[in-house]
Amino acid sequence: MRSDSGTDQVFGPTGRFAPSPTGPLHMGSLITALASYCDIKQRGGRWFLRIDDIDPVRTDRRAIADITRTLHVHGLTPDADLRQQSYFVPRYERALQQLTEHCFYCRCSRSELQGNKLYPGYCRAIKEKTSNHAVRIRVDQQRRSFIDALKGDHGYVPADDFGDFVIWRKDDLVTYHLATACDDAMDYSHVLRGDDLFEMTAPQLFIMEKLGLTPPEYVHIPVLTYPDGTKLSKQSRAPALDAATPEANIRRALEFLGQDPPTNILSVREWIHWSVKHWRLEAVPPQLKPYIASDLA
Ligand code: GLU
Repeated sequence: MRSDSGTDQVFGPTGRFAPSPTGPLHMGSLITALASYCDIKQRGGRWFLRIDDIDPVRTDRRAIADITRTLHVHGLTPDADLRQQSYFVPRYERALQQLTEHCFYCRCSRSELQGNKLYPGYCRAIKEKTSNHAVRIRVDQQRRSFIDALKGDHGYVPADDFGDFVIWRKDDLVTYHLATACDDAMDYSHVLRGDDLFEMTAPQLFIMEKLGLTPPEYVHIPVLTYPDGTKLSKQSRAPALDAATPEANIRRALEFLGQDPPTNILSVREWIHWSVKHWRLEAVPPQLKPYIASDLA
């Protein structure tokens, strides 16, 4: 069966790993992918790979194949074909239309907005499209909250915490917030991701609310950093996972996640089986041990 939104309709728990295709996966990515896999598999659910490739400038085509292959080598094979956000643009366009009454067209330039933490409301009254505008959603003062399975209850006030935000860019591309809000609400029951994205949850929930969509359940796990606190990323030149040592990589990821893996020699298949069976979200430490590349040998 297909939902009107385009993906196969799936019943039961569904989770995802949603990397941006900017480069190869590193140990930090494996930690998030493995945690989301274990979390959803332990619930008897299905796990998907979503490639967040809405920004063509940041998308590295080779990275998509590389990410898929690396996950596969690590025993993390999705339960359906790869999903790419770039294929779902009609879904996002429909959402934009539905949100029209809550939106305004914003022509402010970066320099005009400089120094403002929150959008100062200059274009709030603009209801007609012009050329070269972004679309912003109008937020309100009402207090709301959501539950994160690790961090607990989190309250927020949209107007004070993030202000009117862009859901469609001036260069006619959907934003991360709108694309992710649509996909997460329509396709997944559980979102497990890095806590560098914790701040993104409230604006995404705001969009879901305005679209009348039921949000998924959330958990944000700590991200892997170097000893100086910098997050592993392409920008910080995180080394790519070595596809020749998946067993050691999985074991190391489990250690970072506080899962107390056995010292036995296991195959990739056995490691994944062990990981799902013994997965304990509550064992994930509030802060992961820092990453030191030489430990991985
Ligand atoms: N694509 C985003 C990233 O790689 C993550 C999206 C998400 O998990 O919500 O940072």
